[in-house]
Amino acid sequence: MFIADTHADTLFAMGVAHTLHPAITPERLRRGGVTLQTLALWTGPQGNGGDVAGIIQAELEALPALTAAGLKQVDGPDEAIEGECAFMLSVEGGEVFEAGLHTVADFRRLGVRIAALTWNHPNAIGQPAKSGSDDGLTSYGIQVVKEMQRLGIAADVSHLNKAGFWDLFAKGDRPPMASHSCVRALCEHFRNLDDDQLRAMIQYGGYVGVNFYPAFLREDGQADVRTVAEHIDYICQLGGSEIVGLGSDFDGIECAPRNLEHPGDLPNLWNELRRMGYSEAAIEGIAGGNLRDYFRRLA
Ligand SMILES: [Zn+2]
Repeated sequence: MFIADTHADTLFAMGVAHTLHPAITPERLRRGGVTLQTLALWTGPQGNGGDVAGIIQAELEALPALTAAGLKQVDGPDEAIEGECAFMLSVEGGEVFEAGLHTVADFRRLGVRIAALTWNHPNAIGQPAKSGSDDGLTSYGIQVVKEMQRLGIAADVSHLNKAGFWDLFAKGDRPPMASHSCVRALCEHFRNLDDDQLRAMIQYGGYVGVNFYPAFLREDGQADVRTVAEHIDYICQLGGSEIVGLGSDFDGIECAPRNLEHPGDLPNLWNELRRMGYSEAAIEGIAGGNLRDYFRRLA
């Protein structure tokens, strides 16, 4: 089965935080049968208040340890081979594009295929959901999005505010994705997508990777593998069985759902979906087929 995850902060954990035991390891990716793990170049917890360039550099310097362990970097889902384990890069935080439009091509050359326009700080591109702002993307932000989409980088709405989200549909050239977001109707949190947003993703062929963070899954934070399956199921019930998948956020979350604590536990999720009545074909889409199809729609 082609299994793909659209968000993890393992490079920050390895290269910057020097976490002793990251949730994602090559051994666990193999045990979980993961074909394609997306690894984020995150701008860090302070945004422009921190050393963004230094953090990105330290994250890139964590890559050789992964490639030495046999993980191959690929330039998109179609290059990832079932039965092998590869990774693809993303960006989390549009701060990296503030120095000029040429920076978009710089990150594309590194192999970046997904870029979240904001993390939790406002930047020159737009406003995060966390700010509570009603401002949409800036005019520079719209230029950045168009350049990203021209070069094959998916615009990622996770962390972005609603006005920015709707600007992407009104002014962008390609459907956006949410690399690691959950369902707001099931858990009221500013990071989650409401039904109107999910319906737009479905209607326009976007993509939603469901986040495994317990605080986004249930308001009381009591989540297990079943809770993740319920968020996936909600999106399927809305008509999104072909646009939903996994956005684990492993190594960016300080706790994980019970029985879904690292990639080696992913078979528990497929079993939960089977118990809920999902067919093998539907599970294959959720596991990664839908992400592969999304990137084909971007081409
Ligand atoms: Zn995030």
